[in-house]
Amino acid sequence: MLKEFINKYYLDRQKDRAQHHFYISDAGKCSRAIFFKFKNAPREEMDARILRLFDHGDSIHRLIMKPLLSMKEVHVVASEVDIPPQELIRGRADAIISDGKDLYVLDIKSMNSMVFKNLNRAKEEHIDQLQLYLHYLDPKKGILLYVNKDTQELKEFVIKYSSPKARSLIKPLTELKTKIDSNIIPSRISSWPDNWQCKYCPFKEICGLAGPGNVKWLDFKKKIEAQTKI
Ligand code: SF4
Repeated sequence: MLKEFINKYYLDRQKDRAQHHFYISDAGKCSRAIFFKFKNAPREEMDARILRLFDHGDSIHRLIMKPLLSMKEVHVVASEVDIPPQELIRGRADAIISDGKDLYVLDIKSMNSMVFKNLNRAKEEHIDQLQLYLHYLDPKKGILLYVNKDTQELKEFVIKYSSPKARSLIKPLTELKTKIDSNIIPSRISSWPDNWQCKYCPFKEICGLAGPGNVKWLDFKKKIEAQTKI
């Protein structure tokens, strides 16, 4: 009985999931998948178990912040820091911290033992996200802190701001905004369907139907509505 109610709680929170802004976590991600999120295109329903795992990630963040907030060696200047409002992108960094000498943007990531064990350098997609935080916030250095959620082990990587890198991440989002506004579905990523994003993509079915290139969304929407009767 409880299991069904708890699952329903998570699944209900997924309803009306159209995205209206870019988020820092969209950096470097497949433009077509982001487009589909903006248009609330039909997607595979996420497992309630996966949604609970996201909540678990939030509780790990609180667990890490607790000692940081009470120690002398490190000062938490601010936690849950929104990037300044601007047209394109929204995001909230976990914290800005100081070691008494330098300021850092802190981004906490949790993962399972299997992924954590093989982590010898920061993951590219996490560096991309941190580069955008560093672009929009004042500290120009950041720390990616990884937590093994099975064993609570930690690994950390210091990342310096790179303006060319940040700009190379912002440019495709600006281009994608034009496509969203003009209802043009962007092409697939070149490594489709082997790219890791495709493996976990909730839009892989309709992506296959759309074909590889740019497609007019309104025509395609009629096609999938006719097929799925949504
Ligand atoms: S299946 Fe791959 S290419 Fe298609 S939308 Fe998803 S991530 Fe993008």
